[in-house]
Amino acid sequence: MIDKPTLQANFAALEARLVAACAKANRPRAAVSLIAVSKLHPPELIRFAWELGHRDFGENYAQELRDKHAGLADCAGLRWHAIGPVQPKNAKYVAKAATVFHALERLDVAQELSKRRVGTPLQCLIEVNVGAEESKAGLPPSDVASFVTAVRALPQLELVGLTAMPPQYEDPELARPHFKLLRELAAEHGLAQLSMGTTSDFAVAIEEGATMVRVGTALFGHRPP
Ligand SMILES: *Cc1c(COP(=O)(O)O)cnc(C)c1O
Repeated sequence: MIDKPTLQANFAALEARLVAACAKANRPRAAVSLIAVSKLHPPELIRFAWELGHRDFGENYAQELRDKHAGLADCAGLRWHAIGPVQPKNAKYVAKAATVFHALERLDVAQELSKRRVGTPLQCLIEVNVGAEESKAGLPPSDVASFVTAVRALPQLELVGLTAMPPQYEDPELARPHFKLLRELAAEHGLAQLSMGTTSDFAVAIEEGATMVRVGTALFGHRPP
């Protein structure tokens, strides 16, 4: 695990890159929120980041989210973003812990989340498999319209946007058409939030309209195996 001064330096360096990317895209820095992806890193590191003033954290695995949510319950204002697909039986953990769910792709999970959610509706983004990859989560673009209609009928979910995790390219420029596709799909459905861009390609994602970037490695270092 990296130490707190290193984490602080990583946040500062990333912030400078976010500012530069927003300037290049002619967008205000405030239009893009940074989700710090903390999956597989220990809770103490998340606490350091929270002490440094960061509030939005992304987790992939429902049980890990459940445990970190419980262990860091005293961190006021901390918002959890569930960014990985979930099984119906684990939806209850996401419904309880998350402020935003970025990986909606199954109607049974959507129904379970809506049933289990207490209080304010869970903000959700539909994940789209923009690169048509076998190994990746998300709906094919052609299935998005009917899924949007179904999700909008669920009382405890608030559909706010779309998510993409395009193929990993050596050259981030190559991800651009995938980000563009997501932006066009979101516009078609009147969805404002675009969750796209990771350590390797967030600058291109910001140019293509990302409103939430999900960055792990640039902040916390390499994940433990
Ligand atoms: C792990 C993960 C990230 C962060 O990726 P980095 O390359 O570490 O920035 C972002 N989004 C999702 C869905 C992830 O699983």
